[in-house]
Amino acid sequence: MSLITVTGEIDPGEVLLADAHEHVWIQPEAGVDPSARIELNDYDAITGELRTLSSGGVLLVDCQPGGAGRDARQLEAVARAANLWITAVTGFHQRKYYPPAAPHWSQTADDFIAELTHATHETRDHAVPVRASAIKVGYEGVIEGQTRVLMEAAAHAARATGATILFHTEQGRGVELLIPFFEGYGVPASQLYLCHVDKRNDFALHADLARAGALLGYDTFARPKYDPANNVWRLLQQMIAAGLDHRVAVGLDFAFPSMWAFGGGQGIAGAYASILKRMEQIGLTADSIRRLTARNIAQQLVFKTAPPSGV
Ligand SMILES: [Zn+2]
Repeated sequence: MSLITVTGEIDPGEVLLADAHEHVWIQPEAGVDPSARIELNDYDAITGELRTLSSGGVLLVDCQPGGAGRDARQLEAVARAANLWITAVTGFHQRKYYPPAAPHWSQTADDFIAELTHATHETRDHAVPVRASAIKVGYEGVIEGQTRVLMEAAAHAARATGATILFHTEQGRGVELLIPFFEGYGVPASQLYLCHVDKRNDFALHADLARAGALLGYDTFARPKYDPANNVWRLLQQMIAAGLDHRVAVGLDFAFPSMWAFGGGQGIAGAYASILKRMEQIGLTADSIRRLTARNIAQQLVFKTAPPSGV
């Protein structure tokens, strides 16, 4: 089975380095509250920086869903210009990232399925449309209201397509509710990818989630404010010691230009160089490093079952 990227399908085994939670392009809609407006849209700066990183085999998992800043046309252009692979998401983010009247806040399972099997909304009229490879859920820790309705839609779309559901969690809050909720809709834990859970430093909880089959996204390695030495690195070593490195994926989550090299930050290449170096220093095997930084997420994004014909 192949992995759907914005420039076509690839064999997940070809991925040598994957940034499992990234933001490559964010162009917010007009009317989004200024406090929730994040812009990452300098095409020349973004492609310039990404070109320095790609010697082949690099995958970036873009986590911005439609209506909340995604532009699949730009993702495709950046992937081609920088000679790397990018995947896109359908689904939904937290309400604050949409303008007050947002059609995307009432999307249905059919909308998500169409983006996974046919085309993202903004590339529907392209000769070769760009498809999404996962369903994003912006989860704040409580399953209620329209968020619950959208989560049910995500569950139906995941079941229909075999696509993974990629969660934004608020520092892991309420993450233990997710596996039972989605299993109730017939979506196994192995189709759930829980991001930002390393902000909740609770090894017993992480081990339980991983043993149940969920993939955990760790993305604070290059975020000093989360004290990575005492949190994510410690968690990672505990997970490895418990034999759970097949259920963790490493990402950077550089949503703000100030985190990129062009914006004065460490940059994607710099951050990965130091993460990989530290992994070697603490004695991780090459195989374990490859799982954490490439293979786990690449295999996760492959649809678990063939989409039903005629969808
Ligand atoms: Zn993110």
